[in-house]
Amino acid sequence: MTDFFHEGDLVGVLTAQPLDRILDYKAPEGGCMLGAFVEVPLGPRKVLGVVWGAGKGDFDYAKVRHVIRVLDVAPMRSEMRQFLTRAAEYTLTPMSAMLRLATRAPGLGDAPSMRKVFRLGTGTPDRMTDARTKVLEVLRDYGGLSFTLGELAEMAGVTSSVIKGLVKHGAVSEEDAPRDTAYATLDPDYGGKELTADQAAGADVLKHAVASGTYGTTLLKGVTGSGKTEVYLEAVAECLRQGRQALVLLPEIALTSEFITRVEARFGFKPAEWHSGVTMTERRRCWRMVGQGAAGLVVGARSALFLPYRDLGLIVVDEEHDTSYKQEDGVLYNARDMAVLRAHINNAQVVLASATPSLESWANVDAGKYAKLELTSRFGAAVMPKMGAIDMRVEDLPGSRWVSPTLQAAIRARLEKGEQSLLFLNRRGYAPVTICRACGHQIACDHCDARMVEHRFLKRLMCHQCGETKPMPTVCPSCEAEDRLSPVGPGVERMAEEATALFPDARIAVLSSDHFGSARALKEHIAAITRGDADIIIGTQLVAKGHNFPLLTLVGVIDADLGLQGSDLRAAERTFQLMRQVAGRAGRAEAPGEALMQTFQPEHPVIRAILGGDEEAFWTAEAAERKAAGVPPYGRMAGIVLSSPNVQEVFDLGTEMARNDAPLRRIGAQVFGPAPAPIARIRGRHRVRLLVKADKGAPLQAALAAWAAQFKLPSTLRMAIDIDPQSFY
Ligand code: ADP
Ligand code: ZN
Repeated sequence: MTDFFHEGDLVGVLTAQPLDRILDYKAPEGGCMLGAFVEVPLGPRKVLGVVWGAGKGDFDYAKVRHVIRVLDVAPMRSEMRQFLTRAAEYTLTPMSAMLRLATRAPGLGDAPSMRKVFRLGTGTPDRMTDARTKVLEVLRDYGGLSFTLGELAEMAGVTSSVIKGLVKHGAVSEEDAPRDTAYATLDPDYGGKELTADQAAGADVLKHAVASGTYGTTLLKGVTGSGKTEVYLEAVAECLRQGRQALVLLPEIALTSEFITRVEARFGFKPAEWHSGVTMTERRRCWRMVGQGAAGLVVGARSALFLPYRDLGLIVVDEEHDTSYKQEDGVLYNARDMAVLRAHINNAQVVLASATPSLESWANVDAGKYAKLELTSRFGAAVMPKMGAIDMRVEDLPGSRWVSPTLQAAIRARLEKGEQSLLFLNRRGYAPVTICRACGHQIACDHCDARMVEHRFLKRLMCHQCGETKPMPTVCPSCEAEDRLSPVGPGVERMAEEATALFPDARIAVLSSDHFGSARALKEHIAAITRGDADIIIGTQLVAKGHNFPLLTLVGVIDADLGLQGSDLRAAERTFQLMRQVAGRAGRAEAPGEALMQTFQPEHPVIRAILGGDEEAFWTAEAAERKAAGVPPYGRMAGIVLSSPNVQEVFDLGTEMARNDAPLRRIGAQVFGPAPAPIARIRGRHRVRLLVKADKGAPLQAALAAWAAQFKLPSTLRMAIDIDPQSFY
């Protein structure tokens, strides 16, 4: 296939519009490259697209319109086009939606924007002042470098009018320079640490893998604090030495700033960042520079997989078991799986790092598809915490209290020693349910089948499904009794209240995503806690994700049973991972830690596996159960959710789909449902769910596509197909 189209040649252009067809256009004046980002006319509009190949020519040539212009960005590479195509096939996503993911750069169509920069000029000022001297000194100190007005004013400690005065006399020259500048080149040999033998051996294996320039995936397993990050940074270093680009995916924006600091210490400069907490300007710069190869390392959220890398050599998925890697909105993809796909196409290496790998990755190691490296001990003096269960059946505790006497005593002991305790509860807000003591009514969201959660901090009730909030009523909406509404069950805010009552002199900090308006506020809060500005930390799952609190020596898990309930097939796995992660927060520095789990079922196999620390036993038992049930990772599943404001419509279509299942039966797959989804209504849309199960080797996607194509959807109805569903709501 040719890579260049001359003016007037027919080209096929994929647009991000929901058309699901590649449209023919004539190449513009000057021609265009295969993969070029272009602007094309579509009806009365101008839309963005990518030249996907030669045109089909099944349309009257005279009527075919011209590409309006080629955008000033590097053409999409063939690996990227392949990646989008295969990812679309795997997730049954329309190509237009895939392209939207790949073009989420602000101002993509704009000409490269310019900004004013200032450097030393040749003129002489009419008179010198102290301020003027300072400016000229700064510029001389930095040789030929140029600065923005703000930078220069700050460095010289003068106002911008001083600089403008110098410009007038030509002593400082003002020039236009492109706004998007290359990222500093990271130095792979800048600040490496001396590795332990264990770590060095692991780093060596990864370095060789990266240097081989071939595809491979390695599971890097090691308890929290064993140095996984140090080890994979060595793989990043090797990738940089090879002149290729590296990507590190993190599950949580709140973790990035700590990580960026480590990158800077290791490589001398900050990497490029890509996530929702980054400004538009910086995101545009990142997208463009990644495409030009002028960003060696990107640290980002899952969508960073869709950046236009020039030569991606390594993808690290940190905390690979984390559920936030599964995108549950819009395009339903799992970033971990897509990382493997992308690496395959790019001849790149993948490192999956975790203290508690997913059963999927564990099974892939078992099957010989992934390599495995294990770091067995924690770095330095830190050891794994002692784990114990508190049997809540025998604790003396009133119904509205959550911290058992045993846990209270443990906290008190920490307070006396000046150490930190963490109370972990995976429930945001004050209380999960608000109930009327007179009639039993529970306050629910008006748009969803979900109960409203009381947030005292915000002084409102909030729906955790749709985000709807309303003021806390004083009268029961059902029986109109006054002042009879009361909270049931614990949330982090209520825990904070209880802790304050129990330990009035302790400094108590709540760490929950609701309490921080911005990633920055959260970051500052975390830094303060790390320094020791709190005695008791009360947190949701946010704290389980890799923060390092050196003074923390006790973790109390308020309700270890929470995750074991429910119909989710991964409930046991999640609980196991979460408990181990949380326990990993305790005793990271020199002081040994202890983790205590409050449970009503201390004999439950998951609780016992956590206490016993016997991971292999847990994984083996869990794998055997999943194998027997034929569910992932030993079987394949797809969830289909139909939603509509009209309840009849969704059930009718669901029933019709279940009945006409020939394409699925042909591959031996089974359909379950339709059934109301666990949350049967979200934002006023009724939801019905079907579940498809197939053997591991079955061609599920093709069968699903053929099956779904049989039905005509009413315009009000939406169908979402989720391959390998993670959550069942
Ligand atoms: P993990 O990623 O497995 O949780 P980290 O790489 O974050 O572990 O290591 C935990 C802590 O120990 C970090 O502060 C890290 O800098 C430090 N550390 C790990 N290995 C070494 C080493 N070889 N030399 C010095 N410090 C180390
Ligand atoms: Zn709601």
